Formats: sequence, C-alpha cells, structure tokens
Amino acid sequence: MDQVDCVVAGAGVVGLAVARALALAGREVLVLEREALIGSHTSSRNSEVIHAGIYYAKGSAKAALCVRGRQLLYEYCAARAVPHRRLGKIIVAGAAQEGALEGIRAAAAGNGVEDLRFLDAGDLARLEPDLRGAAGLMSPSTGIVDSHALMLSYQGEAEDHGAVIAFRTGLAAAEVTPGGFEIVAEGGGEALRLKARVLVNAAGLFAGEIAERIAGLAPEHRRKVFYCKGNYFALAGRVPFSHLIYPVPERDGLGVHLTLDMAGAGRFGPDTEWIGGIDYGLDAARGMGFYAAIRSYWPDLKEGALSPSYTGIRPKLAPAGGPATDFTIDGPEVHGVPGLINLFGIESPGLTASLAIAGEVLARLEG
Ligand SMILES: Cc1cc2nc3c(=O)[nH]c(=O)nc-3n(C[C@H](O)[C@H](O)[C@H](O)COP(=O)(O)OP(=O)(O)OC[C@H]3O[C@@H](n4cnc5c(N)ncnc54)[C@H](O)[C@@H]3O)c2cc1C
Repeated sequence: MDQVDCVVAGAGVVGLAVARALALAGREVLVLEREALIGSHTSSRNSEVIHAGIYYAKGSAKAALCVRGRQLLYEYCAARAVPHRRLGKIIVAGAAQEGALEGIRAAAAGNGVEDLRFLDAGDLARLEPDLRGAAGLMSPSTGIVDSHALMLSYQGEAEDHGAVIAFRTGLAAAEVTPGGFEIVAEGGGEALRLKARVLVNAAGLFAGEIAERIAGLAPEHRRKVFYCKGNYFALAGRVPFSHLIYPVPERDGLGVHLTLDMAGAGRFGPDTEWIGGIDYGLDAARGMGFYAAIRSYWPDLKEGALSPSYTGIRPKLAPAGGPATDFTIDGPEVHGVPGLINLFGIESPGLTASLAIAGEVLARLEG
C-alpha cells in the first residue's frame, strides 16, 4: 500500500489553496480530483468577486475568513501577477429600502470593514448616471479576480513544492486507523489503496458524500449538503457601469447583481433556485424575473439584452427556509479524529477566503 503524508480530496480553489499551504509548509501532498480539470464545479461557476466582508454575521467564520482572506488575496494577486481589479461596488437602495443601508454599514463595521461610504441620489447619478436609486453604499475594497488564473497559481506553487494532483481519481472510501487513514481512491477503473496521516475533505458540493464514506467518523459529524442553484444571464453589448452594482441583499443570496469579468463583459446573477440534485442546466424562462429585478435599479435595460449564461450551485448546510449557516471547518478538536479536516458549507465568500481557509486548516492540523 502506498503511503503519503497528506491527502486533499478536491482540486477546487479551496483544495488547491490547502494543498499549496501544506506543500509550502514542507508536507508531502497528494490531491485527489475526481474530474479531469481543476475547478470543475463551484470554483469555475461563481461571480469571481473579491468580497469585502460586509454582510456576514458578526463573529462568524465567514466574516473573519472573508476579511482576512480578502487582504491576503489582494497581496497574493499583486505578488503573483494574478489578474484582478479593485473596482469597488455600489449597493443601491430604492426609496423603501434606504433604512436597510445603515444596518448593512453597521454590520460591515462590526466585521472590521470600515471603508463603506454613504451615497445620496446625487452621488449615485455622478458615479453611475444610468443607475436609479434613492441612496447607496460604496464599498471601495470590493473587486474581481480571474478565478482560473488564481487556481493555476495555487496549483503551480503547490506542484513546485512537490504536491501531486491525481486527476480523474476520486476518493471512494476512507477508514480511520491508529496512524491516520487507509484511503481507497478510484480512477480509470482501478482502485488505489493509500495510507495517509492527514485527510482534508475539500470536495465542496460533495463534502457530505465523502464524510459519509469515512469509516470511524461519528455520525453526528457528518453533514448533509443542500443545493441552491444560482443562475447567470450575460449582458449583450457595452456595460454602462464601471462599478459592481448590487441591490439590497435577499435572504439566500445577494440579489440579482451586476458583476464584470476581467475583459469588462457584464453578467447578472446569481438568483436563488433550490434544487434536489446537482444539475447545472439553466432555464431561459428565469430571464423574465431578471429583467424585473434589474430594472428596479437600471430602468433602461433593453428587452432582449440578456442571454442565458451559466449556473453555479451553493453547498448549503440547511434546506430552503432553514437557518443561515456558517463555513464549517471541522478538525480534530470537533470530531476527535486526528489528522482529519472536513470543510462543509464553503459557499460564498469561499473564493475570497480561500487563502485564509487554508491557513485555518493548517492551524487546526497543528492543534
Ligand atoms: C453562484 C455562486 C457564486 C459565488 N460567487 C462568489 C464570489 O463572487 N466570490 C467568492 O468569494 N465566492 C463566491 N462563491 C463561492 C465560491 O465559488 C466557493 O466557495 C468556492 O469555489 C468553493 O471551492 P471548493 O474548492 O470548496 O469547491 P469546488 O470548487 O466545488 O471543488 C470541489 C472539488 O472536489 C472534487 N470532488 C468531488 N468529489 C470528490 C471525490 N470523491 N474525490 C476527489 N475529488 C472530489 C470536485 O470534482 C471539485 O473539483 C460563489 C458560489 C456560487 C455557487
């Protein structure tokens, strides 16, 4: 049986950040990735926004890891020439929503995000003449990043420090043993048996499935993952905005907002659609709801300007209507299994927080 120090299951942005951090710390790392490419699921199906850390509950892991991760990410992107832009974002409120802005500003300040600025209707008109709103908030530290370039950079650094990624090879089973884990990985019709001291479950939407397959992990430390799809529509033609534009947030997501990619193309989304299984299909009819939502802050949106683009799925830890849940990083201090980290519910802002999550994983492993 082959032996390796650390196994990371999943080569999304979080698994790659963890693999990089472990490899930089001098650990031997094998990443198992069931698909043929890095970032085949949520990490290539998101808004690519570097979030400031505005909305998350005070004291939550999301708040702390987003704020820390955002700082680390800007430094990292600058140092490694990963394409990114600190565009700034405007949260726009209609007349009936103005009161919500102070709550958002206060929540942000509670998370250590002190740079939000109130905008009145005149400021909005000056900054973004096509935007309609009674008031707004400017978040200057929100930006965008080329998520694929970021993942390639994490992968490159991890591999430069000895990490190996086994593609088309999924973790099929693991058993807790006195020295760590016996792992069965499957790929190309063959089963590979491995011994490892450390196992990091960074399988995103599939993290619940992997936890189910770890013999020796107590049932109360397994989590069910619920799926909440976000649909995106692309905007044809020139984008009349130079900032990211967000409405006042909704319950399960941030509302249909405008983000720009590194090439300046505009896309709207994601909305929220609870689904029973992983299905990235996009129902074009949902575009109707998009026009209505967007016209509340951009009345001049032309009919026919939106086309179905792509979808991503949030790995939620509670079903529709359930409580808001936090990033869950379960280490030995939670479940009692030395060397095991389960990452559950790494929805937004997981991209922003990836470096901070990796730092947290290392800290938990070191006790
Ligand atoms: C609609 C949407 C918008 C978002 N927007 C933003 C944003 O703007 N900014 C932000 O910061 N965050 C955003 N996020 C969150 C961010 O995209 C995620 O937190 C992040 O991509 C999660 O990365 P991950 O590595 O945990 O998961 P994933 O990228 O899903 O990677 C998990 C990997 O595990 C692999 N895998 C699964 N099962 C196995 C197995 N048995 N063995 C081996 N490998 C396996 C999968 O193939 C996959 O490659 C958004 C999320 C969604 C859904």
